[in-house]
Amino acid sequence: VLDLLYVPPDNAFAGDRGGPWSLWRYRAALPVGVAESAWQALSLGEGGTPLVADDAQVFLKLDFLMPTLSFKDRGSVLLVATALELGARRLVADSSGNAGVSLAAYAARAGIAAEVFVPAATSEAKVAQLRRFGAEVWRVGGTRADAAAAAIDRVESTRSFYASHVYNPMFHHGTKTFAYEVWEQLGRRVPDTVVVPAGNGTLLLGARLGFDDLLVTGAADRVPRLVAAQAERCAPLAAAIGSGAYRSPGPTLAEGIAIAAPPRLQQMRDAVERSGGAVITAGDDAVRAARAELAGRGIDVEPTAAVAYAAWRSWPAGAAAGSTVIALTGAGLKAAPPH
Ligand SMILES: *Cc1c(COP(=O)(O)O)cnc(C)c1O
Repeated sequence: VLDLLYVPPDNAFAGDRGGPWSLWRYRAALPVGVAESAWQALSLGEGGTPLVADDAQVFLKLDFLMPTLSFKDRGSVLLVATALELGARRLVADSSGNAGVSLAAYAARAGIAAEVFVPAATSEAKVAQLRRFGAEVWRVGGTRADAAAAAIDRVESTRSFYASHVYNPMFHHGTKTFAYEVWEQLGRRVPDTVVVPAGNGTLLLGARLGFDDLLVTGAADRVPRLVAAQAERCAPLAAAIGSGAYRSPGPTLAEGIAIAAPPRLQQMRDAVERSGGAVITAGDDAVRAARAELAGRGIDVEPTAAVAYAAWRSWPAGAAAGSTVIALTGAGLKAAPPH
């Protein structure tokens, strides 16, 4: 995995933030050199998602209100902007769903050809969506890791741009804007606790990066506790931290975070531990209940996105967690019936 040694300039968060109501509002803290006209043509208004109060202390960040209905658009737009900057004509990605769809959308917008490798079991709805965006879809037998291996082979044989949301650090420099927005929406203050779902950790690590940026530039004086939520049946981070057994690994409703061996596991662990956070797991029944509870208040998310809410609900320390932001990452329409 690659990381980028980049710290935003000290004044990146100073003054009144002008600019478009999208993540490009934080252009001064984004490490892309692509021309302004190029990112303006690429942008679909990603970012700038609502922060809605759930009660006096708890806020829901509706990060599924995005061009392709998941938070992945934050990372994809930066990754595709980088591909444009480098003059790439073709990109290759692997994904079990939302990341591939999001990358395919921005590749279409940029006029860059996209090939996406997905596990054979990926839902027809997502494959159809990839094709609508003009991506060439390769279905690979075996696991999610086999799809990644096939993509890497293709990258090497065709010398394409590997638009990996896991390995390429630019993706995290897009997802970090989640933290900037939370800070700004809370009146330039960071909350005590942030709860995010974690599979490969692109939002968890992006949040860490973003809150660290706010700290080192002096925009904030501390970082929030980062709490990662995982599915009970696929919880490698919980197992690594020792906060939960990897109970009966198996299929889970939370398909978007069913990542058995995340390549950035060590970084994810460090992000949680250094912030004084925790990993909480939720079983499918709790996820179903959380999804229904949110829908009962007018908020429809996919099961993967309900994991963070379910986990927070079951967390004994949750009531004393102070001001808390819970990320809701994918829209309900993403889920295949009958979930
Ligand atoms: C991708 C995704 C996640 C998890 O993101 P990771 O980067 O794998 O941790 C959570 N929710 C939804 C809806 C997603 O698409």
